[in-house]
Amino acid sequence: MANIEHVVIIGSGPAGWTAAIYAARANLKPLVIAGDGANRERMPGGQLMFTTEVENFPGFVHGIDGQKMMGVLQQQAERFGTRVLQNFVTRVDFTARPFKIWHINDLSGEAETQVLAQAVIISTGASANYLGLESEKKFENNGVSACAVCDGALPRFRDNPLVVVGGGDSAVEEGTYLTKFASMVYLVHRRDTLRASKIMAERALSNKKIKPLWNSAVEEVLGNDNDGVTAVRIKDLKTNATSVIECRGMFAAIGHTPNTAFLKGQIDLDPKGYIALKEPFRSTTSVEGIFAAGDCADPIYRQAITAAGMGCKAAIDAERWLAEQGID
Ligand SMILES: Cc1cc2nc3c(=O)[nH]c(=O)nc-3n(C[C@H](O)[C@H](O)[C@H](O)COP(=O)(O)OP(=O)(O)OC[C@H]3O[C@@H](n4cnc5c(N)ncnc54)[C@H](O)[C@@H]3O)c2cc1C
Repeated sequence: MANIEHVVIIGSGPAGWTAAIYAARANLKPLVIAGDGANRERMPGGQLMFTTEVENFPGFVHGIDGQKMMGVLQQQAERFGTRVLQNFVTRVDFTARPFKIWHINDLSGEAETQVLAQAVIISTGASANYLGLESEKKFENNGVSACAVCDGALPRFRDNPLVVVGGGDSAVEEGTYLTKFASMVYLVHRRDTLRASKIMAERALSNKKIKPLWNSAVEEVLGNDNDGVTAVRIKDLKTNATSVIECRGMFAAIGHTPNTAFLKGQIDLDPKGYIALKEPFRSTTSVEGIFAAGDCADPIYRQAITAAGMGCKAAIDAERWLAEQGID
């Protein structure tokens, strides 16, 4: 008979590794399907593999390099017996138990393989949306960011003008947060009104440090290797006129895309694609035995520490659920 895993964890960011540490210490011998590295969304280690400094994860007085941090979490999970497959999940069948999960590796060319699981923890993250400019990519981690809470306090941004792109709730939140550090925040928005909720929009627009630039789009991020971002060139979408705004950072705040496409029709997702959690404070989903953790189920906080906390909850929920089913 085919081998049935106790717990399969899909995703290897802070949520996945934390779930693995807890599940492994509970003797569940978890299998982590970590991503195959074929693109940014599929990177083993998750989003922190793309950042040099993590200053707000408890336990690291002087901060820690994102890749180093994810390596340490993986080692900790492996120390207790976690097994790791650097593969990417293409589809699942959660309609009957054991659950079926198909995975591939596009880098090695490994064909689709199926694994069976009694319980599954999904921790596939949510990817920040960027504008898609070449120059934006060039200055990532050198003045371009998609997370004000993560990066706003870095020395390079303090007492300097910054640009936030977007007009929804997250742009207004990010812009307002950045006024703590910036000398001025330019809010670049394609329309002439904000899409954010009325109360948040009013608060932002009455903030003397926020200057909206309506009907505008960033055409190019300007700078050099030494200083990083020094300015952005924006275009007035009504007149086509361009102008240069001096700034030391550009924050893309145009939403996130949860990495949940492979789950459509299998478990309940919210309208934006985030996994809908069934009960407050828990990791349970619409399907018994399937648990969710981290940014893929969190449209609000999206931080490494909150993802790790959710991973802990998911492993404890999975362990208790398996015990209730008489599977140990
Ligand atoms: C540039 C940058 C800097 C940041 N800095 C900070 C910071 O300083 N502090 C902070 O707290 N937060 C920071 N964040 C946010 C933080 O990275 C996320 O909140 C956190 O990584 C979320 O963890 P997660 O485990 O939910 O998902 P992720 O870290 O996104 O991991 C998702 C995992 O799922 C895998 N995956 C996705 N789809 C599949 C699939 N179908 N099959 C198999 N695997 C799959 C991916 O390969 C990845 O391993 C930053 C984010 C970015 C982009």
